[in-house]
This record gives sequence, structure tokens and C-alpha cells, in this order.
Amino acid sequence: MNAPFSYASPTLSVDALKHSIAYKLMFTLGKDPAIANKHEWLNATLLAVRDRMVERWLRSNRAQLSQDVRQVYYLSMEFLVGRTLSNALLAMGMYNDTQAALEEMGFDLEDLIEEESDPGLGNGGLGRLAACFLDSLATLGLPGRGYGIRYEYGMFKQNIVEGRQAESPDYWLEYGNPWEFQRFNTRYKVRFGGRIQHEGSRARWVETEEVLATAYDQIIPGYDTDTTNTLRLWGAQASNEINLGKFNQGDYFAAVEDKNHSENVSRVLYPNDSTYSGRELRLRQEYFLVSATVQDILHRHWTMHQTFDNLADKIALHLNDTHPVLAIPELMRLLIDENKFSWDDAFDVTCQVFSYTNHTLMQEALETWPVDMIGKILPRHLQIIFDINDYFLKTVQEQYPDDWELLARISIIDENNGRRIRMAWLAVVASHMVNGVSELHSNLMVQSLFADFAKLFPGRFCNKTNGITPRRWLALANPPLSAVLDETIGRTWRTELSQLDELKQHIDFPNFIELIAHAKLQNKKRLAEFVSQKLDIVIDPQAMFDVQIKRIHEYKRQLLNVLHIITRYNRIKAEPDADWVPRVSIFAGKAASAYQTAKHIIHLINDVAQVINNDPQVKSKLKVVFIPNYSVSLAQIIIPAADLSEQISLAGTEASGTSNMKFALNGALTIGTLDGANVEMLDHVGAENIFIFGNTTPQVEALRSNGYNSHLYYEQDAELHQVLTQIATGVFSPQEPGRYRNIFDSLVNLGDHYQLLADYRSYVDTQDKVDKLYRNPDTWTRCALHNIANMGYFSSDRTIKEYADEIWAIKPIQL
Ligand SMILES: *Cc1c(COP(=O)(O)O)cnc(C)c1O
Repeated sequence: MNAPFSYASPTLSVDALKHSIAYKLMFTLGKDPAIANKHEWLNATLLAVRDRMVERWLRSNRAQLSQDVRQVYYLSMEFLVGRTLSNALLAMGMYNDTQAALEEMGFDLEDLIEEESDPGLGNGGLGRLAACFLDSLATLGLPGRGYGIRYEYGMFKQNIVEGRQAESPDYWLEYGNPWEFQRFNTRYKVRFGGRIQHEGSRARWVETEEVLATAYDQIIPGYDTDTTNTLRLWGAQASNEINLGKFNQGDYFAAVEDKNHSENVSRVLYPNDSTYSGRELRLRQEYFLVSATVQDILHRHWTMHQTFDNLADKIALHLNDTHPVLAIPELMRLLIDENKFSWDDAFDVTCQVFSYTNHTLMQEALETWPVDMIGKILPRHLQIIFDINDYFLKTVQEQYPDDWELLARISIIDENNGRRIRMAWLAVVASHMVNGVSELHSNLMVQSLFADFAKLFPGRFCNKTNGITPRRWLALANPPLSAVLDETIGRTWRTELSQLDELKQHIDFPNFIELIAHAKLQNKKRLAEFVSQKLDIVIDPQAMFDVQIKRIHEYKRQLLNVLHIITRYNRIKAEPDADWVPRVSIFAGKAASAYQTAKHIIHLINDVAQVINNDPQVKSKLKVVFIPNYSVSLAQIIIPAADLSEQISLAGTEASGTSNMKFALNGALTIGTLDGANVEMLDHVGAENIFIFGNTTPQVEALRSNGYNSHLYYEQDAELHQVLTQIATGVFSPQEPGRYRNIFDSLVNLGDHYQLLADYRSYVDTQDKVDKLYRNPDTWTRCALHNIANMGYFSSDRTIKEYADEIWAIKPIQL
């Protein structure tokens, strides 16, 4: 492997590092170096590196306190941070020294890096966005913290067994987590259940069950700066008080059982992406996060100021989707019931501190909770939500007297569906700013989901197009390309990504194009090696690597990709000796464990792969590979190796996407619909450098409202007809010919909800254009270079600066 992390930190010697790693191994882990295993060496290394970050961290925290500036608290049920060691070494400029130190002790740093388990504390895009934001906050020196849950079990591990997804638990803490600091003294009681006693405008919440939330802190290093950030995750501990009754009655086992029960609240991440789970434990998790967090924030504020009068000046609370929206009634409750605020003052402060990001417009993803369930678990919060709703509806009624339909539409309580609370409505009513995550999504948001609210609160809605951190997604993931960039435009693109624009000056130098192509080839060889080792499939690094990696979801249309692959297969079979552009179609992604259709799609991909990969007529012209257990670490290997990035969701469904940005930044060309941030990527790279196909959002809506008839496409397009017939009749599942009949029916006879057939022809024709361009490697690489050079805008540093200036009103701290 090359060593691209070439700037040395003059204050650290390799000897000192060797000494501290050995010291940690012996005196912290209690292990004899002669018999320590790889995990213990990894942990010793992590601890030695962590020591070197602590000083900066304490300094940053001290500066935040003494400068007494406004802080942002980013509340998210998910933080998909990825492995920490390599990122920390990069941030601190310690990569080479650590590599040298370990080498002298007989270890390979890369080896140890691979030993670290990937904390899977998120499902996909939303959790990964939170992680990129933490990285940017730290790097920009912005004051704040992330708050989340320390799930013991992250996203399940995915195995593929006979073509099907099999899930197993992911106990990421198996070898401990040397990166975290457990705060035994930072603990809060989180209460559930019970009942309310009224005392004037205040209420006492009594006879509750209690769980303790304990803080676990993790340092988030900024890149090439002394500023750091903190991610505080809450773990549940049984509280002593809950079981006293049973315990005293001598029922020891019941008492211990209860203890286990209450600790369940931080046990496991729900594996749903873009659909919500209406389970009571999930509601408890959401409240667990926000109750501990709001108590912590108020405690900290009180310690510094001994008053809450200036609360709105000093804090901003951001809600990453509606999952943490109970923070709103929780803050209200604490201010009113425990700190003597009047209702009006409490609501006023609440509206000033909260802001909210909407992540989806899809109905099935919008959180609503039954009034009865919230009443049972959080009776006081239910009252406060009703009070907020009454107050809100009253103000609207003054403006629009007797518009009962409007009032029913905007009411936080949905009376029509068995009385449910619309969490997104609550978030909008009590936030001062609400943002979408791409231009298209933000526009659709105010035209559809929040149209009524946008009329009532015109200044409240805005857009903040997502971004990704160039540290992890270019510097760490792609050493060969980073080295070329460093030689060409210097090293500072890591913090000023718009400098990539300077690459355009070099585009006419054949040598430079050659270097970019060579970097891509190195990454493709690395992936080919990985695929050969893990899956025993041989792929040719010269073939086009066509990649779709993301959660498996019908709206993301992995099936459309499969329809094209089968089309290509049929064409090759019809003319086996023609001059085909060799392709490897690569998939990765997990299906939610209860999402049967998504799991069926995984099965189909693997069945299609079986047939194609074993067909002697096809040979190396087409290969299909499903790489199991998609994760941040896997993304870091696959994305740099991609030639083509599949971003083919139905227009109007993908709020932004972020893997689209990762791919383009690493020099892949996009084939995509005009959806999410693809639209802005088109604006930035220009139509000559991206493959756009398919219906636009208005066309999708028109089809829907005019009665979309997918059957027509099936009848009228011969190639499509053949592909669908093959799927339906078991060409890819000869052992069970009817296996995919339901997929055929859903596309042809049951409405094709995501309009795959309507976009099929345009997709396949566009894939032909992709082939044509790939035949001309220099032109292809020039297009790739235009993608890289134009990705500056999609740095999460840009996104976070916008949030800081326009939503949170926070400024960098001075160290
Ligand atoms: C970036 C990323 C995602 C988001 O991918 P999309 O294609 O934008 O949905 C999901 N999972 C992981 C591990 C990622 O790194």
C-alpha cells in the first residue's frame, strides 16, 4: 500500500509512540506484549492515539466554556461514524509515525485498522450525514455536540445464504470500545408511565418507572486543527429505585428481570430506513435520547449561568428528522414543571431554540404515534402536545376563521386515523427553521407535505443541500487519487474542497489524465482482490465497474438495474461474438429485516448473478456481484473503484442522496434520474459529464394522476417483455419457477408503484451511451475529472457553514 499521509508532525517521535503503545498494552490492558493478540494491540494503539487527542479536546471544551458562545446540539437517533483509528490518525497527521512505530514492533498498521469493528449505529444516509456533520463541525471549530444512543447492537450483520439475506446480531462492543469515556457521574433519570397530578398550571408526574441514562463521550477530532468536538451517546442502566418493592418482597428474580427489561431501551438499533416502526420500544428509545439530552443541556446551562432567562441566546437544538422531536415537549415540561416558566414563555423559548431537518416526503416514512400509546408512556408530554396544538390552532383560526378543513389538515392530532400524533407537524409548529436536504426536495416539501404550513409561516422553510466530508470520502478512502491531487494542486483541498476546481487547468495534459486513470485502476485492482478473496469471484479490473450500493428499497429501484442487466445478458446471448464493453455490476446493501419485497430483490440479484456468472457464453463480458454486509468500511473500498454510479430512484422520492456525491468525488460518472441532489450535481458538472435519464418529478406526477398503465410498456417494448417474462417463468430460478412471479405481477399487473417500466427504455438507451463513452478511455477520464473538479460544493463543510450562519447563528471558537 502507498503511504499518502505524508506530512509529519514534528513534535512526535516514533519512539515515543512505541513507548506509549507498549505502555497502554501492559498497564491499561494488563497484557504481556509477548502474548497479546491483534485486538489488544489495536486497543493499545487506539488508547495511545486517544491520549494525544485528549489535550486538544480539553482545551476545546475549556474554550467553549470560557468564551460562553452559543452552542448547537445535534440530536440524532443515528450516527454512522465508521471506523475511528484511521480517521483520527489522518486528522492528527500521525499516520506515518504510527505506521513506523507499529512496524518496528512487528505489526502492520493497515492490518490493525481492519481489525476495528465498524460501529453500525445507523441505518444509512441519515446516520452517515450526522457523522459527516460532526466531522465538519470539529474541523470548522464550531461549538456544539452530537447527542445519540449507544446501542449495544448496531445494524445487523448481513450474510448471503443460498442467495438470501440472513441476519445476525452485530455486537460491536465485543472487544470493548477504547475510544469512549464512560461518565459515571453524568447520569440522568429518564421516566416513563405513571400519572399526572395537577398543581395550577404546573403538573407533577408521579408513580413512574425510571431508567438511568449514562453518558459515553467520544472525541471527534477536527482535521489539521486543534479544535475537536464531542459525540455524547447515552446508555441505559437500570435504576436502583424501580425494583425495591419486588426486591423487598423477596422476589429477587423478578427484580433482576425488570432490571434487564429497563436496560433494553439502548440495546438495539431498529433496522428501518425510510419506513418507521410503530413499536413501543422505539418510542421509549426516542424519549430516552431526548430526555437525557435536554436534562444535560439544561444542567450545563444552569451550572454556567444560574438562570434560564438567557437560554435562547446560548443554545440551538437541531432535530435530525422527527425521531428526536419529543425534545420539544420535554423542554417545555422541564421549563414549566420544574423551573417555574409560564406556558407562554416556555413556548417562546422552545420555538427560538429548535430547528428541524425533514428527510423524506414519503408517506410510509412519516412518524405518527397513537395518542393512546403516548398517553400511556408519556402522559405529561401528551398534555403538552395537546396544549401546543390548541394554542397553534387558535392563532390560525384567528387568521382563517371557520376554515375547518385547513384546521383538520394542520392539526398535530390526526383524528382520522385512529387519533395519531403527527410528529413532523409538531416539529414544524415548534421550530424556527425547517430545512430540506436538496433544492428539489426542499421545493417539493413546501409544495406538498408542508404546503399549508409554508403559507402560514413563509420564512420558516429553507434548503440546506447535503454534503460529505472530503476527509473520510477522499483522503482516507482513496490514497492513490489523493496523491495525484496533492502533487497537482497541493494538500489544502482537504479543508477547502472548492480548490478542486484548479484541476481544470491540467485537463489538457495527457500525462495528468493518465495519472487519474492510473489511480482509478489501482482502486479497481484493490476491489477485485477483495472480491476474489471474500466471494471467490474473479473480476477483471479493465471491465467497467458499474455500482449500486445503498439500502435496498423499492424507491431506489435496484430492480430497474436488474432489468437492464438481464437485457444486456439477452443481447450478449443473441450475439456472443460481438464487441461488448465488459461490465461488472456490483451491488451492496441491506434490506430491513421485515421488508419482504426488499429481501426478495436481494434474492433475485443473487439468482441472476448465478445464471449470468456461470453461463459459458457470457464469460467476462458481464459479471454480477453482490457484496454482503454493506457498511461505511465497505463503502470506502468500493466507491473509489467505481466507474459508473447508479443513482436511479424514482424522481421525487430520494430526498438528497449522499453516495451520489461520494462517487462523483472519487471520479465515477453518474447515471441517474433528476432526483434529490442529482439535480444540483448536473448543474455543477454540466450535462456532458453526467448521464441523466427518465421522467422528471412533474412527469411522474402526471403519470400518476392520469392513471399510469405499466402493462402498456410491457406489451409494447419487446426487450422489456422478454426480460419480464424470464423473471416470471423462472429462467433465473429453475429450481422454483414461480419464485419471482410476484415481482412480475407488481410491475405489470399491480400498478408498478415506482414506475420502473416507464423509465426502462430511457435507462437502457442511456446505458448504451455509457458503453459508447467507455470505449474512449481518455474522454471517459476527462469526464470523470470534470466530476471530481466540480464536487467542491458538495463538501459537508459548505453545508455546515450554511447551517451555522442561517439556522443556528453560531460562530467558531478561538483556541
Ligand atoms: C453514504 C452512505 C449511505 C447513503 O447512501 P445513499 O446512496 O445516498 O442512500 C448509506 N450507507 C452507507 C454506509 C454510506 O456510507
